[in-house]
Amino acid sequence: MTRDIFIFNPGPAMMPEPVLESTSKAVLNFANTGMSIMEVSHRAKEFDALLEDTEKRLHKIMGIPDTYKVLFLQGGATLQFSMVPINLLPAGKVADYIDTGYFASRAIKEAKLIGKVNVAASTKEINYTRLPAPNEIKLTKDAAYCHITSNNTIYGTQWQTFPETGNVPLIADMSSDILSRKVDVSKFGLIYAGAQKNMGPAGVTCVIIRKDLVGKAPANTPSMLDYKPHVENNSSYNTCPVTAIFVVHEVLKWIEDQGGVANIEATNNEKAKLIYNILDSGDYYKGHAEKGSRSKMNITFRLPSEALEEKFASEASKRGLKGLKGHRSVGGIRASMYNAVPLAGAQKLAEFMKEFKKNNS
Ligand code: PMP
Repeated sequence: MTRDIFIFNPGPAMMPEPVLESTSKAVLNFANTGMSIMEVSHRAKEFDALLEDTEKRLHKIMGIPDTYKVLFLQGGATLQFSMVPINLLPAGKVADYIDTGYFASRAIKEAKLIGKVNVAASTKEINYTRLPAPNEIKLTKDAAYCHITSNNTIYGTQWQTFPETGNVPLIADMSSDILSRKVDVSKFGLIYAGAQKNMGPAGVTCVIIRKDLVGKAPANTPSMLDYKPHVENNSSYNTCPVTAIFVVHEVLKWIEDQGGVANIEATNNEKAKLIYNILDSGDYYKGHAEKGSRSKMNITFRLPSEALEEKFASEASKRGLKGLKGHRSVGGIRASMYNAVPLAGAQKLAEFMKEFKKNNS
């Protein structure tokens, strides 16, 4: 199987070909059970082994200390907007949130339903073109936690240096950049990510929680919204998303085959540089994000007119460069270049951008 398209979708996103191949085999026969991965029990020993191996591989690949538990849950990153404050924002405490875009503000909205929130910084007034500078962030001294969005999928900004929160647990929504670069997990109290960009298909959400933060939900918390039963039952408090977890396992194997996150990060840097160099080479393409806040995952830019943007996305699609249309709140073009978009995809996009500019200036 060799495809000649490159998918720049913001998520669900392009998957590595070896993952598509091994998944297609498991759809017919999982681990020589004679059963499809869709038919096997989540309590079967073969699946249990896979789940354990998935967790182990993620620990190894991300360098997750043993003081953390990895969970595979459902409900998307969006459910984590609620689970985080339900579990970790007790009455009488304040949670700090840094507002850097659409998903950050949705996390804030949900947290406000649960408890007291301090918006420690926001770049909403400048249409989220950059992240707040350290001196713009007003943290609460004894906050319950501080929440950030490590990569802002819609606006195309990404934290390069995370805020220093001392003893206050730092919590990150890493949905759109997990596994794309090396991260020191020990700096975080909790990390969560919907899988459908860098980790696997839609339908599973990964939560990496420091064990001392488990068991803090109020007594009247519904069980499914409390991290504790999920931790105690190894992500199988109820039927876990078996097939989606299988795919995550295959993606992690693929990352190891690429030489791990360090190699993936080097390629991601190269891919992003190719496109940003074009944005910086003239004023035909105008980047949304300020240079110091640029994302390596989602590159957002405008063309001289909306008509040209339409034409760009549609001509690109005919050339096999799919999913380039920007989000409605930023407009223009968004090239999401998650891990599975190869360097050749970025090269082809860069060539297309040069040619389009020449033919449409
Ligand atoms: N956070 C970020 C940074 C995202 O990019 C997304 C989805 N694009 C979400 C949260 C919401 O994720 P889900 O749809 O899995 O709930």
